[in-house]
Amino acid sequence: MRLASLGSGSKGNGTLVRAGDTLVLVDCGFTLRETVRRLALFGLAPEDLAAVLITHEHGDHVRGAGALARKHGVPLYSTFGTARAVTGKPAGFQNTLWREVRPGRTFQVQGLTVTPVTVPHDAREPCQYRFSWGDRELGVLTDLGSLTPHVVECYRECDALVLECNHDPELLANGPYPASLKRRVGGNFGHLSNEQAATLLGHCNVDRLQHLVLSHLSEQNNTPEHALAQIHRAVARGQERIRVAGQNHGFDWLDIH
Ligand SMILES: [Zn+2]
Ligand SMILES: [Zn+2]
Repeated sequence: MRLASLGSGSKGNGTLVRAGDTLVLVDCGFTLRETVRRLALFGLAPEDLAAVLITHEHGDHVRGAGALARKHGVPLYSTFGTARAVTGKPAGFQNTLWREVRPGRTFQVQGLTVTPVTVPHDAREPCQYRFSWGDRELGVLTDLGSLTPHVVECYRECDALVLECNHDPELLANGPYPASLKRRVGGNFGHLSNEQAATLLGHCNVDRLQHLVLSHLSEQNNTPEHALAQIHRAVARGQERIRVAGQNHGFDWLDIH
């Protein structure tokens, strides 16, 4: 199994997961044209995708999804709530090969095993995803405002983890956002801070991690240096396993052995 990213942050997200011949995209938060351009940087075309798995209806996750699915016949997977939330919008899933996922119910995309996980976030029915391929486990976990026992349980044993480090609380408090948005981002249904991400790792089997990718960093309220400083406190050994996903370039293929 291997993973890569088309880009990560509030302007758009897309994570590639490949297992054998099966390629899926988690979220499609760039326009169709931009998604095609970014796929091409990896030598890929939309037709190579077996599925697009959507986490929730926010624009940075769903922007190009409907158009990609309609134009290229790629099946779209999401919860019922997420599909309902985009009904009637340009990013809506009408006239796509839409398939419903239910949090906690594992399903297969070809040989890849996928488990949707419920997370606390201010969307209609948000979920994140965990992938299994043989005995290898990959977790993708962004867009959650707080840690729940369920989230900890679902992500504690992974060989690779894409983990939200959205903001540094001090930068958020002193930053340019209006007070209401600061409350939203920092709240229990907003986004994960660097500290919260470090707390999650304190519950995880970090020795098992081959790759840890810090993701969905806010360009206003965080820096890679702030995120890495917090996470390095939680992962004392093997810090070369840790990297930061960028908004413009995401990250290159990482192999899970
Ligand atoms: Zn997001
Ligand atoms: Zn969101």
